[in-house]
Amino acid sequence: MKTRLNGPFVVPVRDIVRHPGEMREHQFSVTLKEQWGEGIVSYEAGSEIDVDVRLESVHEGILASGTVDAEYKGVCGRCLKDIAEPVEVEFQELFAYPGDEETDFEVQDDHVDLETLVREAAVLSLPFQPVCQPDCPGLDPNTGERLAESTGVEPDAPIDPRWSALQQITDQGNAADRRGPENTEES
Ligand SMILES: [Zn+2]
Repeated sequence: MKTRLNGPFVVPVRDIVRHPGEMREHQFSVTLKEQWGEGIVSYEAGSEIDVDVRLESVHEGILASGTVDAEYKGVCGRCLKDIAEPVEVEFQELFAYPGDEETDFEVQDDHVDLETLVREAAVLSLPFQPVCQPDCPGLDPNTGERLAESTGVEPDAPIDPRWSALQQITDQGNAADRRGPENTEES
């Protein structure tokens, strides 16, 4: 894989190349020109990816480690409501100096291109089953309406705490959001 030296994730490392022990830190933001991710949630074109990277010169090359901050958007996998969630994910990879062996990540013309690294870290952190909230009750199988929003019922009278654990079990998969003041420690 050849590095594109003009991409938005290209970082110069000229001043630390072949100087083991030297280290530089960079922070930058990239506005995506294309969508990242193919699922029901993704990083949309136009959204911002924040990269915080530490580049360390080692004998074999440049070790890049850092974090990606981004926000994915899409729909809840249960109720189809629009969702947007921040993501922070770490990455680390060695960019080797060009040599006999072809490697996926290489220092090229005193630059490293973090795009593949950042993209893979961000896309792999997308949830397979995104939900708007952990206890999203989903859609009513009969009407297709959102259960969380269609039930305008007031919370029931306080439940005896001795029964609340049992109540939570029987409520699993049930429609109403019964989270009352007596069991807020769950939230
Ligand atoms: Zn939902």
